Amino acid sequence: MPRGSYTGRFAPSPTGDLHFGSLVAAVGSFLQARAHGGRWLVRIEDLDPPREVPGSAERILEDLERFQLSPDETVVWQGTRRAAHEAALDQLAAAGLLFPCACTRAELPPGPYPGTCREGLPPGRKGRALRVRVPGDPIRFVDGVQGPVSESLAECCGDFVVRRADGLVAYQLAVVVDDAWQGVTEIVRGADLLDSTPRQVFLQRALGLPTPSYLHLPLARDPEGRKLSKSLGADPVRSMPPLDALGAALAFLGHAPPPHGDLEARWAWAREHWDAGRVPREGGAVFGADGQAVYSPA
Ligand code: GLU
Repeated sequence: MPRGSYTGRFAPSPTGDLHFGSLVAAVGSFLQARAHGGRWLVRIEDLDPPREVPGSAERILEDLERFQLSPDETVVWQGTRRAAHEAALDQLAAAGLLFPCACTRAELPPGPYPGTCREGLPPGRKGRALRVRVPGDPIRFVDGVQGPVSESLAECCGDFVVRRADGLVAYQLAVVVDDAWQGVTEIVRGADLLDSTPRQVFLQRALGLPTPSYLHLPLARDPEGRKLSKSLGADPVRSMPPLDALGAALAFLGHAPPPHGDLEARWAWAREHWDAGRVPREGGAVFGADGQAVYSPA
């Protein structure tokens, strides 16, 4: 790829403050964009008002500034993209790929959607959500960190929801439409989204959009091995100075920096040394049993 045509992004949902896992995604996507001489964009995925935490989008943007993570273009708010998401739904409907589904969550068994409404709504039932028909053939792609992925959507999730019963457009669809609109060429994000990627690659193909390359970073875990979430209290992003939290994120990504220097020097070191090939597939625990950050570089 010629230098300069790379576009990367960080796409947080405003459902809480920036936590260590999202800092890792921001740092990894930023360094990867810089290593390619490309653009780094920020998109606030305010797609799900019921799950939003008021003020968290603004706090995430402030935190990024504290880390000197400045997007190269104006921040995009996904909530403003509704018309484009609806147009993509229309395109899928015109291709015969959508069907209304009457099932409530309580009516569905765990596991893949059993196809209850695929051939038409049961008599007397009203459509609630819209689902997309998935193919039987596996979706394949090679992830830059996690390696080859092959998944049959029919087996893993079945026909999935693209417009929810509450009328909101599903993340899987919106992310595909907006990544393509912003010209994103590589998606660098946490491995918790690896199992969403086959659905997104399928939607890209169904909508005639290019598939970017993917790089799924290791997941940050708490001492019990659970994924770090925005609800966890102890978190280096809030409790450590930015210099130390950045050092911890870099160490977590296989790039432990020298302990000295200020934030600017640390970024300069990271830009010079960044090599996605050094990012480990699996992340360790971020905190020791004493609650102290394990990856503190000091
Ligand atoms: N908005 C999603 C999240 O915060 C991430 C979307 C993405 O990176 O594709 O979990």
